[in-house]
Amino acid sequence: MQRYFIEADSIKGNRIIITGDDVHHIRTVLRSNPGEKVLCCDSRGTDYIVHLEKFHADAIEGRIETSTPSLSEAPIHITIAQSLPKGDKMDYVVQKGTELGASAFLPFMSQRTVVKLNDKKAEKRVERWQRIAKEAAEQSHRGKIPIVHGPIPWKQLLHDQASFDHVWIAYEKGGEALTAAGRDIEHGDRLLIIIGPEGGFTDEEVSEAEEAGMTRVSLGPRILRTETAGLAVLACLMVINGEVG
Ligand code: SAH
Repeated sequence: MQRYFIEADSIKGNRIIITGDDVHHIRTVLRSNPGEKVLCCDSRGTDYIVHLEKFHADAIEGRIETSTPSLSEAPIHITIAQSLPKGDKMDYVVQKGTELGASAFLPFMSQRTVVKLNDKKAEKRVERWQRIAKEAAEQSHRGKIPIVHGPIPWKQLLHDQASFDHVWIAYEKGGEALTAAGRDIEHGDRLLIIIGPEGGFTDEEVSEAEEAGMTRVSLGPRILRTETAGLAVLACLMVINGEVG
């Protein structure tokens, strides 16, 4: 069944009003008619089976038949802080990271980050990444759309990390094994994973991270490309959290 993310305030009792691009998709792409059903997600973790009833010019009204908690959300909130990679690699990180269960993406600029974005460009990119996250969330049957934050400088990341329960910095020159670091995590916890740029972190940044209380983690004996590292952590967390059996 086709899935659509709707705003939670589109739901009134057992009625749903679908608006925006989804109306066009239901009417023109799916060629649906009154009487057919779609699945709507409120982006907060509840899924609704909706019986489509009235088709208006710019809205479709439906009746909720059942509502169930989404079973596809990871048990912990994982934010990938990704040093802005070159080219369109961030698109890939957002798309694949959404499939693998990330809750949020936080691009940042550290000393060796090559990409420079002015405010206008950054705003356009964030819009694009947020759209990619929505499409990937629909495709992979997520209950929530991950949030893509605007890019921040390294110093701000050092400050903002204090709001997480666990903060890991992936460091190829060594750190705690991922499985060992993962033992401290409990369901519902908020985890931040920080991935360096193509040229890696400077020694100064690694010291600053440790002074701020972050845990250095190793992702094994091979050097991964920056766009692979966060995805490898997410896949390992699926195992650690028992999501793959
Ligand atoms: N500067 C390095 C590679 C950087 S890889 C070099 O050129 O040799 C880019 C980022 O991916 C790193 O900053 C780190 O955050 C992460 N990473 C890659 N492989 C890793 C590993 N084996 N363990 C931990 N982190 C890794």
